[in-house]
Amino acid sequence: MKKDTILARAGRHEAEFHGAINPPVYHVSTIAFPTVAAFEEAARNRFSGVYYGRYGQPTSLALEEAVAALDGGYRAVAVPSGLAAIVTGLLAFVRPGDHVLVTDAVYGPTRETCNTLLRDMGVETTYFDPLIGADIGELIRPNTRLVYLESPGSLTFEVQDVPTIAAAARGRGLRVLMDNTWATPYYFRPLEHGVDVAILAATKYIGGHSDLMLGLVVATEEAYGPVKAASARLGYAPAPDDCYLALRGLRTLGVRLARHQANALEVASWLRRRPEVAEVLYPALPGAPGHELWARDFSGASGLFSVVFRPCPEGAVEAFLDGLTHFSIGVSWGGYESLALRVHPERLRTASFRPFPGPVVRFHIGLEDPDDLIADLEQGLARLGRVAARAGPSGRSAVEEAPS
Ligand SMILES: *Cc1c(COP(=O)(O)O)cnc(C)c1O
Repeated sequence: MKKDTILARAGRHEAEFHGAINPPVYHVSTIAFPTVAAFEEAARNRFSGVYYGRYGQPTSLALEEAVAALDGGYRAVAVPSGLAAIVTGLLAFVRPGDHVLVTDAVYGPTRETCNTLLRDMGVETTYFDPLIGADIGELIRPNTRLVYLESPGSLTFEVQDVPTIAAAARGRGLRVLMDNTWATPYYFRPLEHGVDVAILAATKYIGGHSDLMLGLVVATEEAYGPVKAASARLGYAPAPDDCYLALRGLRTLGVRLARHQANALEVASWLRRRPEVAEVLYPALPGAPGHELWARDFSGASGLFSVVFRPCPEGAVEAFLDGLTHFSIGVSWGGYESLALRVHPERLRTASFRPFPGPVVRFHIGLEDPDDLIADLEQGLARLGRVAARAGPSGRSAVEEAPS
């Protein structure tokens, strides 16, 4: 089946639900069994059937089945948030005394998890330049257990050479994990590029409507056992309502992503032509950093990118952002609506710092008409220009004459 057919078809079991197309929401803890033998049989198969609410119910099982099919994985595990998926993936494989390699462009809370939870259990983290490629081999120690990738990187959108890094790591017996929230399995299938465990914040594009929290871990057959065991031991039970909404969101993922991509390309191209902008970090844009690798490995792009402004005076970017009509200010992304957020990637990096000439703003381009978004941004840039003008000749010249 092609991916759009998988989106429409996978995980559907109408015959089990009186013909209902979508599996209903099951609010369950106890599952009642008619006999001791039936109970014991269900307990033995608690990871694949319905035994107790915490291990899964028909709605979460349907969602897991559909996402595993889309990602080409053996099975998927649903957990209550994207961060829970990250913690599950890491704890599935590390033991005290281990060492892990993590991309320096990793999602901030993943870094926090490594720097606290993993550190406290005696696991050491080394961050590496996301563009390291085959040189990852030089960082592998006898106790290195896994390599953790995220491509494109959070906030800065470096595209990683996933097949090369994964091959080098697997050749040395390491597990390879990847956060694939940006592309989703609709545009990139990590397991086909040498990754063992793909991590998804379903909160983002799979939910697609900014109204649920959910994570998914998709694993190869070899990696599935430890992943499911870790999620069970952590006690993670995803909310049935959120599983229902995520499965419903998944059905329209393809059409939504195509529009996010088209709108984002239009807005990003417009922004790149503006004199206030130094650089647009959107791998789908020809000429942008990472474009060649992205074009080689990905079949599309989602609607999230960052813009590096030229140097501008204090308050100018705030004036730009505060008056926007169609862009909300807030974290998370992947819903139908546009967002804009001042971000500070330089505060997180420890292994591959790259100074930016001016402030960085991350945009999520939603499903609005791009003409309205661009008009809104144009007014915002006029506000930015007025603040720069008020700041006097030095402020103004900084906006107009900064080197690129
Ligand atoms: C948001 C996000 C997560 C975490 O997802 P939550 O559901 O918010 O916990 C993980 N990875 C990336 C890349 C994200 O952007």
